[in-house]
Amino acid sequence: MYEQLTLFPPLPSPVRTVYGGGVGQAPALPGRNDSAHMEAIYLDRLLPLEDYDKIIVLFSGGKDSLACVLDLLERGVPREKMELWHHDIDGGHPTRKMDWPVTQNYVRAVAEYLGITLRVSWRVNGFWGEVYRLGASWPIQYTDPASGKTIECPLSEKQLRSAQLREKILSDLERKELEGMGCRMKYPAKSSNLATRWCSSILKIMVADTVIRNLELLKQDGQRMKFPAKSSCHQGRWCSGSLKAQVESKLYSDIDALARDVKILVVSGERRQESAGRAKYNEMEIHRTNATAKAHRLVHQWRSVIDWDEAQVWEIIKRWHIAPHPCYAAGWNRCSCMMCIFSLPSHWAGIRELFPERFVEVEEDERVLGFTLDNKQPLAEYVGSAKSCFCHSDPQALYQLTSGEFSASDMEQREWIMPAGAFHGAAGGPC
Ligand code: SF4
Repeated sequence: MYEQLTLFPPLPSPVRTVYGGGVGQAPALPGRNDSAHMEAIYLDRLLPLEDYDKIIVLFSGGKDSLACVLDLLERGVPREKMELWHHDIDGGHPTRKMDWPVTQNYVRAVAEYLGITLRVSWRVNGFWGEVYRLGASWPIQYTDPASGKTIECPLSEKQLRSAQLREKILSDLERKELEGMGCRMKYPAKSSNLATRWCSSILKIMVADTVIRNLELLKQDGQRMKFPAKSSCHQGRWCSGSLKAQVESKLYSDIDALARDVKILVVSGERRQESAGRAKYNEMEIHRTNATAKAHRLVHQWRSVIDWDEAQVWEIIKRWHIAPHPCYAAGWNRCSCMMCIFSLPSHWAGIRELFPERFVEVEEDERVLGFTLDNKQPLAEYVGSAKSCFCHSDPQALYQLTSGEFSASDMEQREWIMPAGAFHGAAGGPC
């Protein structure tokens, strides 16, 4: 039975402990089995929670996934059996960001405050690396919570080849830069022969040729060079598929403790109230990484708050006196990627107010790519004169959002206040 550790916040009363009761939950609404695919993933009941070896919560940092975590704790699931998995959409890109600067610190603070292991995973170079990708997709990496080390999932042949080509292009460009700094050792001859008038051949023609040749080779392995489409399918809206779903799937087979002979429950925070699409989701199903025959790996998915309304979500967060992601206090109704492609004009007007340089960068991307972020019009026209959603009433939230600072000591909110962005609808995007 679960023992409360005094170090962590106490369970609010009354405690609804079901863990250890030997009963597997059935869905509130029957699952769909109206196609071959739905039939194949149909699940009529979870195992009792205590029968799973690992319970993984897909934790974006938003209110719904936070509600999932708190709900599991209230059901008596031991902290040590749970892991929070967060996919970093920016993937360590050296200059560009798609997400809130505070999100990484916020998810770390939640994990530390609640005493639950956090595993962060990402596709190298994240959203912007993918927008400007030439060659195969970038590698997937994750942190090993025990050692803190970064682990890279095995690379495909295409990824290896693309990595070599990118390195070669980089070294050619660096050589050009070095040579341009004057380390020549001898003069080129005043000659029409490019072998002796090496300045033209080595520094211009060959450099350009090498880069172009390698760029062409890289293109053969795939290229993106465009924004994701505002569409419901992962192929068009590649950001969700490539930067979240694929990253997540790769981890199940790469992490030894999860690869075989294991029972895993994956918990995620979609709610029917959010959209017509989500209204049709199953509460529980067999997860796409289930491999009972090949690897004795059983993976079930549970959308544990699917039938909750928004008031229930805020209620559990309030019950725990926990600070939600500061974007809610700043007026945002959803906490997804800060510059989510589905953001409404009022959200973009808020970004322009808080991070004007980010807004300008995206406008520049539209020019470079010859492609607008919105399906129909340039960003500036899409936003027009929309009123910013940013709410000025919480200076601390503003500081956290813009500085990126957030620690476990900021989690407890004794005087819990409903954030300004609450109950402003679910408009703005699917993930
Ligand atoms: S939150 Fe928006 S931008 Fe981010 S992955 Fe999902 S759809 Fe794409």
